[in-house]
Amino acid sequence: MRIDIATLFPEMCETVLSESIIGRARRKGILQFFCHNIRDYTLDKHRRVDDAPYGGGMGMVMQADPIYRCFEDVREKLGKRPHVIYLSPQGKSLTQAKAVELSKMDGLMLICGHYEGVDERVIEEIVDEEISIGDYVLTGGELPALVLADTVCRLIPGVLSDEESFTEESHYAGLLEYPQYTRPPVWHDREVPSVLFTGHHANIRKWRREQQIVRTLHKRPDMLKDAPLDKEDRKFLRLLQQKEE
Ligand code: SAM
Repeated sequence: MRIDIATLFPEMCETVLSESIIGRARRKGILQFFCHNIRDYTLDKHRRVDDAPYGGGMGMVMQADPIYRCFEDVREKLGKRPHVIYLSPQGKSLTQAKAVELSKMDGLMLICGHYEGVDERVIEEIVDEEISIGDYVLTGGELPALVLADTVCRLIPGVLSDEESFTEESHYAGLLEYPQYTRPPVWHDREVPSVLFTGHHANIRKWRREQQIVRTLHKRPDMLKDAPLDKEDRKFLRLLQQKEE
C-alpha cells in the first residue's frame, strides 16, 4: 500500500508514520508513505499557499493551484491517477467498513486542509471522496489523515503480526471486542475470569462471544440491529435482555 499525503506539515506526518507498528511495516517495505509539502508546489516567491476568501469573512483559504500541482506530481510518479481523499469535517464519517474498503486499493492520496479549508474548485477537480473523522472541527487535516492511514494500514496483510490480528476486534465483525486481561491474575482484589485459565478453547471462545454481545448491548446497543448474530447469539441476547428488564 502506498499513501501520498499532501500537507503543510510533512514532518508532523513523517514522525507519526515512522513509529510503532506502522513504522515497522514501513521499514519492512509493506507500506510506503510520501509526505509532500504543499508549499513546494506554489509558484509564489514567498511560498504562499493561502489567500483571503472571496466575498469576505474570517481566516484564509488554501489556494487550489499548489494542491493541484502536488496531485499532478503524484499522478506522474505513480503513472496513474491516485484515489484522492480530502479530509474534511463535511465528509462521510470514517468507519471500519470504509477502512476495509480503502485497504483493498493500491494506493491513496490524502489532502490535508488548514485554515478555513481549501478552494472548492480543486475539490471538484480532483477529489474522489471527502472523509471526516467525526463531527467536530480540528485545526488541520493532518491528524485526520494520520488516523485514516493508521486504521487502513493495519488491515494490510503483514502489517500486524499474527498475535495482533484484527478480526475479533471491535467493529470488525459488527460487535465490540470481549474484555482482555493479562498478568497478574489478581489486581486490586479484581480477579481474571476463571474460564480464561481452563485452557478449554471451546469454552473460552463461547465466553468471549457472549462477552462481545454483553459489551455491545451495554456500550453500543445501536450496533446490535446490524450485528451478524447467529441463532445461539440471538438466544443469548434474548436471555440477557430478559434478565436486565
Ligand atoms: N471551515 C471548514 C468547515 O467549516 O467545514 C473547516 C476547516 S478546518 C478548521 C481546517 C481543516 O482541518 C479542514 O480543511 C480539514 O482538512 C481538517 N479537518 C478539520 N476537522 C476535520 C474532521 N472532523 N475530519 C476530517 N478533517 C478535518
